Parts: sequence; C-alpha cells; structure tokens
Amino acid sequence: MTTPTTRLYNTLTRRIEPLVPIQPGKVSMYVCGPTVQDVAHAGHGRTYTTFDVLRRYLTVRGFAVTYVRNITDVDDKILAKSREAGEPPLEYSRRIAKIHAEDYAALGLAIPEHEPRVSEHIPDILEIIERLIERGHAYVAETPKGQDVYFAVRSFAPYGKLSHREINDLLSGARIEVGETKRDSLDFALWKASGKDGWGWPSPWGVGRPGWHVECSAMSMKLLGEHFDIHGGGMDLIFPHHENEIAQSEAAHTPPLANLWMHGGFLQVDSEKMSKSLGNFVTIRDVLVRNDRESLRYFYLGSHYRGPLNFDVEKRDDGRIVFPGVDEAERRIEYLYAARDAATLAAADAPAAIGKALPQQAAIVREAKTRVLDALDQDLNTSVALAVLNELAKAANEIAMAVQKLRKDKAQQDAARALAAAAVHAFADACAPLGLLHSASEDFWARTKAQRLRTRNIDSVILDQKVLERTRARQEKNFARADAIRDELVALGVELLDTPETTTWRLNVG
Ligand code: AMP
Ligand code: ZN
Repeated sequence: MTTPTTRLYNTLTRRIEPLVPIQPGKVSMYVCGPTVQDVAHAGHGRTYTTFDVLRRYLTVRGFAVTYVRNITDVDDKILAKSREAGEPPLEYSRRIAKIHAEDYAALGLAIPEHEPRVSEHIPDILEIIERLIERGHAYVAETPKGQDVYFAVRSFAPYGKLSHREINDLLSGARIEVGETKRDSLDFALWKASGKDGWGWPSPWGVGRPGWHVECSAMSMKLLGEHFDIHGGGMDLIFPHHENEIAQSEAAHTPPLANLWMHGGFLQVDSEKMSKSLGNFVTIRDVLVRNDRESLRYFYLGSHYRGPLNFDVEKRDDGRIVFPGVDEAERRIEYLYAARDAATLAAADAPAAIGKALPQQAAIVREAKTRVLDALDQDLNTSVALAVLNELAKAANEIAMAVQKLRKDKAQQDAARALAAAAVHAFADACAPLGLLHSASEDFWARTKAQRLRTRNIDSVILDQKVLERTRARQEKNFARADAIRDELVALGVELLDTPETTTWRLNVG
C-alpha cells in the first residue's frame, strides 16, 4: 500500500506539490476572512466552501487541523457604512459579522478553531509594526493628519515572489494618494493617523488605525506562530494583500511565513467577478431563500476551485429570480438523497455479513470512499469526487431495485440487503470530506418542500384539496375534470405521482 499524499497547487512555486506538514500529523491554516462591511455574497460562499472542504478532507485523512479565519472589522469602508447606518463602527461591524456567521452556518461551513478580529488584536499589530521599524523595514511619515507608518518595500529583497512580479514592473501601477507622504510609491501603510474622523487606537504615533495587510501578519503570528502550513484566500488577494503579508512577516521574523499558498478562483456574473463594489452580487441569503444549502455547496464543488465559476441569474416572466446553475445542482442533490433513501429502505433487516451479490455494484460501494479521497488528494478535485458520488447513487438504486426483484430468493435478497446497508455507510464515508448529504433525509425533503411552496406562494392546504378533488374526479370517471386539475397544478410546477392506492405530489425545482 502506498502512503496517501495530499497534493495542492502552490501559488508561490506555481506547481502542484505534496503537503508536508511542519509538525507531523498536524496542519495549520490561515484563510483571510471577510471585511464585514456588508452581508456575505455567494462569492464569499465559494471561497469559504473550498477551505471548508479542505479542512474536512484533511481531517478525514487523519490530520489535526487548526483553521484560522479572521474577521476584518476595522476598515475605512466600515467606517463609511456605519456612518450611513448611524451606528458606532464596531457595533456596526459586530452586527454584520453576526450575519456572516449565520450565513456560513446556513451554508454548512464548520466553524474555524479561531476567528480573530482586528479590533481585538491591536497590541499584536503595534508589536509587529514596532519590530519592523526597529529592523529598518518601516518608517514614520508626517502627514497633515498626524503620523503614518509605511513599510519600505525596497527593503525586502524577495518582494514580488508570490505574485511573480518584478519590483520595477510594479512601479508603473503604484501611486501616491493625496495626503500620503511615503518615500516610495511602492510602500504601503502599516498604520494611518485617524485625523478628524477620530476612529482609532492610541499608538506611539498617535491615534490611528492599522493598514489592511498588517492585521493578518499579526494575527497569524499570534495564533499559528511564525511559520505555518497553508495560507489561503481568493485569488484577488495574491497581490497586493498576500505579497505584503509575506513582506511584513518575513521581514519581522524568520522566513518563510507559510509553506503553501492556495488561491480560489472567482465566482463570476457574466464573466465578471461577483463583488460588492461592482454591485453584481447575490447574497448567500438570497440563494438560500429558494435553494437548499446543499445545492449551493454542490454547485460550488461541481467545478475545480482554482478556475472561474459562473453564477447565472435569470429573471422569470412571473418576476421570480432563479439561479439555473444552483437549480441544476439541486436536482443532483435530490438524486443523491433519493438514492440514499432507497438504499436505507432496502437495507431494512439486512443481515450483518455481506454475501456475494451484484459484484459490479459491490465494487462501487466498496471503493467509493477511497476514490473520493484519491480525487481530493489531487489538488482537491471535487468534480471527480462528485462523479464518484453519482456512481454510488446509481449503484444504490440498482441494489434497491434488486432487493425488490429478489423477493422469491431469500438468500440472494439478504445478500442484496446487506449490500444496501454497506451502500448507506459508503454514502456517509464518501460525503464526509465534502460536507454533503449532511441532513437527515426527512429534514432535507421537508425543507425543500416548504421552501418551494413558499417561494412560489403556494398554499399546501389548497394544494392537498386540489389533489383530493382530482382523485374524486378520477373515481367518478370525470377524466376531463381530473386532467384540468392536473394541468393547473403542472403550471405551478407541481408534479403528481399516482400510485394504485393514492396520489402524492412534489414540487420540481425551477
Ligand atoms: P472581502 O470581503 O472582499 O475581503 O473578501 C473575503 C474573501 O472572499 C477573500 O478571500 C476574497 O478573495 C473572497 N471573495 C470575494 N469575492 C469573491 C468572488 N466573487 N469569488 C470568490 N471569492 C471571492
Ligand atoms: Zn489577510
């Protein structure tokens, strides 16, 4: 047997590399968290789902993972927004951070071990800034507002190593903003005087606020130490944020800051990054009003985390906003739940030992977990992992059908039942690293049913009455009336399922 190896793409080396933990058996990872200026959008959801899956997968692979995702609660945009809302900035950001936490929980993201806030780590930030000044990597600059502190980019020779840029190429893009008195246009702020806006903390340079980049250097150092395994975020963070983090941390302490740098691709709308500033965003809440949480997760995991992923938004004639890609994922999720249900039903009274039955399906059941993990070993190949789940679902349906068919052959039926039970376990094992099929089936079906009734303004009592009325019409052989009711319901997206005894209904997604 070969040792399982986790391989991940490293932005720093531009190669897919094996993960070699600094401490055997442990993985430390720091992911840049949201700036809590507004509610979470589906783009945040994508990046954090990637790292949630990474954490789950590494845990299943046997690593003890320490996951840190910070909360940026000090920022100029937060100040502006809080003013509009008429709230003190930290109260405003606390309120928004709570909404983010609720939305991430709704999306099934497990809570990181640490969620540090900038406002609670000002002493750590001051410490690293002072260290950088002492070491000649930062300097104080007088400005009309007071004293700022800047990082001297040219003092850090490897600057540009993450984004693979030459320092001289950066010059053309660099600017000195009005009111800034930095020595070099490449330099970036570690500390800025608050001036008249007055929001800030006392420091050796007067009342001010930290620059954006320094918070992550200070908080990762505090919680994970000078050197940790994985640092991640969306790809917009490669430059300048992560480049600057490397400069600060490696100038202040012993390099390297992190071994592996992982960056997720953007969730896009019409080929543009979904973002607050472009105004093209859909909140996680908006999506979860009409789609199940697992559907959004499945949608994200359907494509590789490093590539772009388009998020389609469609307006229906009746004014409803729908998300076709997520709807499609919801159909797949329903298929998986239905297959697991079928296996669960077929597994009732299964004998403990698996006999020889359905060899093809048995192989799929036996290998599902390993194949999912093997796919995730290869730079988190979630789409291959989902394909394995779908194969397992197909096999589970076939096994359940065989259990029905083998009614007359008890020994064969028992063998198939035992295989059905093994399939139920295989679902649990194969889904664990992906965080899918998390709910009990009844909860999932009840949730999606209620959601669809609600988003389509359908009253379930009236719906039940209509179904009953149609059943009566059929009993009275009034087929014209029965068909008319069926058509009426189909127009509402209601599918009727007739059995010899009764009629049930379900609502299609879409
Ligand atoms: P922000 O709130 O903009 O600071 O972003 C927080 C995290 O979400 C960062 O890791 C970003 O890279 C990521 N992010 C923001 N927008 C998107 C998007 N459209 N697609 C994927 N990740 C995003
Ligand atoms: Zn950061």
